[in-house]
Formats: sequence, structure tokens, C-alpha cells
Amino acid sequence: MPATLRLPGKVAIITGGASGIGLESVLLFACEGAHVVAADINEEAAQRAVKLVADMYPDAPRAIAVKCDVSKEADIKACVAKAVDEFGRLDVMFNNAGIMHPADDNALTTEERIWDLTMNSNLKGVWWGCKYAIEAMRKNPDGSKGSIINTASFVAVLGAATPQLAYTASKGAVLAMTRELAVVHAREGIRLNSLCPGPLRTKLLMDFLDTPDKKNRRLVQVPAGRFGEAIEQAKGALFLASDDSSYVIGADFKVDGGICAAYVTPE
Ligand code: NAD
Repeated sequence: MPATLRLPGKVAIITGGASGIGLESVLLFACEGAHVVAADINEEAAQRAVKLVADMYPDAPRAIAVKCDVSKEADIKACVAKAVDEFGRLDVMFNNAGIMHPADDNALTTEERIWDLTMNSNLKGVWWGCKYAIEAMRKNPDGSKGSIINTASFVAVLGAATPQLAYTASKGAVLAMTRELAVVHAREGIRLNSLCPGPLRTKLLMDFLDTPDKKNRRLVQVPAGRFGEAIEQAKGALFLASDDSSYVIGADFKVDGGICAAYVTPE
């Protein structure tokens, strides 16, 4: 563990904490001194995440796994209550869980069922997470409040000719909602920001882009010339979670290899 911790004694809930960005964040936040609650719809995988914390960082504060479907208000409410019960407070809420459904397509082909499923997880779930985190942070015994980070995506600000209508709409709404909540709650010391990941080298995306041509069709748009790694997102989330970002409020915080800044990319 590092000599100077960036989340010493903080209590952090990370939704979608069993895989990808969430899993890397569980490990990184624990390594930086936080009590971590790995909340995921996949309970077994969340338990594995917590075991990994204990194996990799035996000196880290205790981490726990909670089964939580973020699209269900009762689950999020219970998850926040569990964190406060176990650790006495809540400092960081990383609303990161999200889905990208393979049947999410264009305006003509996307079924209402897929739209609703996506919105319920990616948008309504973030709302529930904000709602119950704000309530809990207001009650922190020492009066200090907290940081809420909501995962959006680069597709919230860039159009793509490979449509995923519901996903894109849900992520755009996360940006707008986060900005508004950030302004509403800034003066009570609760900071809200969005994390906007670029395209990542995750299994999901790599399975989808299963030929060099498909990968290159994307990579030509990315100034960095490569896909991002989940750990690079976790490092962005750590900055937003920690007091290092104490004056960062309402940001669309892009960790995107430059894709959102690009017109013509390098040869
Ligand atoms: P991932 O699929 O590796 O992990 C997502 C986790 O969320 C899984 O553990 C899954 O079980 C969990 N989950 C799914 N639905 C849930 C629900 N209703 N309640 C609780 N947990 C649920 O995904 P990832 O690539 O790490 O993505 C994390 C976030 O980053 C998502 O919001 C995603 O939209 C966003 N994002 C990803 C990319 C990318 O290229 N991977 C790019 C931009 C944004």
C-alpha cells in the first residue's frame, strides 16, 4: 500500500464492482485506504472482488460485497444502509454499473423492452444511487460530506454511426442529471461529477470488434492510438473520489484517449 493514502478511512460504495472499471476501482480504492462496498447484481463475482482485496492488500480496511440491482430502488436503499451500518458513514458513491445490450440498435429497430431495461440500469439506477448517497452523506457524524461519481461515456458527447440508441441516450442523461445535482448540492459539500470513459479494451468491446478491420475502424478516431484500460478509469475515479479534486464540481470528466477532442487524428 502507498505511504500516503488518498482515501484514508473513507467509506466507498462502488456499483458494478465485480468487473471491469468497477473491479479495478474496488482494488484501487481499497489500496488507497478506503472501506469498500462492492455492490453488484452478480453476488458471487462481487464476493470474488472482496476476496481479491483481502489477498492483494491484507493491510487494507475491510471490504464487503453486497448483492444489488441498481435498477431497483429497494436494493440501492438497502446497500447504502448496509454500508452505513457496517462502517458508520458514507464518503464516496461511485455509480458505475451499466449495461450495453446487444439488441440496442437504431431508432427503428430498438425494442421498447431494451430501451426500458437500459434506462432502468444506466439512468434510473444512477438516480437511486445519488438519492440514497446524498441522504446518507448528510448524516455523516463528523459533518463532512462526500463525493458522488456517475459513469457516463464518450458516446454521451459524440455521435457514432454504430448506434446504440438507448445506451447513448441513457449516458447523455447521466451527464445532464449529474451536472444539475452537482449545482444543487455544491454548497452543502456534496460534490458530483461524471466520469466519461473512452472506448476500453474490455471483453465486451473486444468480442464485438472481433476483426483487425473493426478495431482499426474505431482506433483511427482515437488520438492515443489504442483502447483504454479499466485501471485508467479507476485512476480517474480515484481522483474524483479523493480530496485532490475538492474544487472539481459538475465536470464531464473525460478519460478518453483524446477522442472527444479530435477532428483529424495523427497518421
Ligand atoms: P463490465 O460489464 O465489465 O462491468 C459492469 C458490472 O456491472 C458487472 O459486474 C455487472 O454484473 C454489473 N451490473 C450490470 N447491471 C447491473 C445492475 N443492474 N445492478 C448492479 N450491477 C450491475 O463493464 P465496464 O466496461 O467496466 O463498464 C462500467 C461502466 O462504464 C458502465 O456504466 C459502462 O456503460 C461504462 N463505460 C464502459 C466503456 C467500455 O468501453 N467498457 C466505455 C464507456 C463507458
